[in-house]
Amino acid sequence: CGIVGYAGHRDALPLLAGGLSNLEYRGYDSAGIALCAGDDVTVYKTVGEVDALRETLPESSEATVGIGHTRWSTHGKPTDGNAHPHTDCTGEIAVVHNGIIDNYDALKAELEAEGHTFASQTDTEVVPHLVEAERAAGKGVKAAFESAVARLEGSFALAMVAGDGEEIYLARRDSPLCVGHGDGETFVGSDVTAFLEHAREVTYLENGDIAVVTPDGITVEHDGTPVERPVERIEWEAD
Ligand code: GLU
Repeated sequence: CGIVGYAGHRDALPLLAGGLSNLEYRGYDSAGIALCAGDDVTVYKTVGEVDALRETLPESSEATVGIGHTRWSTHGKPTDGNAHPHTDCTGEIAVVHNGIIDNYDALKAELEAEGHTFASQTDTEVVPHLVEAERAAGKGVKAAFESAVARLEGSFALAMVAGDGEEIYLARRDSPLCVGHGDGETFVGSDVTAFLEHAREVTYLENGDIAVVTPDGITVEHDGTPVERPVERIEWEAD
């Protein structure tokens, strides 16, 4: 339902929680955050409101990169375990997702046959496991993400972080994603209200785009070719 992300130089935790609060108007049943600090990602998630999530969060964190999600369940009941982010078996990859992955059943059966164990009933969880499988086959994080996305059918906006990485990986197909450019920090949102108080220079991803977000901005590829997407200035005020 709602996606937020932050890659910068400040503590990502309060910025992500604030972004999720900004997206509450969309309606949701669960919320969660993944932070990159150390080799593994740290995940906080719960069924219920962003305020319920806040009760599980520490006051601050060392992380300067992370992602967050408000979930509107389509596959799997609203439970703590089905809340996003979802991780792979290694705990190094975390993914949030808006939309539906139509072929998740077949992908899940294939991954389970290869030995992956699933912790949720969601369609989303195939994504971190696909990335894990591609990494185990020798690919770097970005190539593994691209290969995983290429196997997905359906409509989705995806944001992924990996371990101690400084990057957020994005994919957009029929579900919106945008990026806000700050000073040495970059924000991600399923819409601009996620980060409008922090950044007003915005890039909207297009269908089929894959983007890598760093504190310095974004690089975008479409069908494997680097592309430039315009930066627009948002003048209007959020409610
Ligand atoms: N299909 C996913 C799920 O049920 C994502 C739903 C959403 O867009 O929030 O977990």
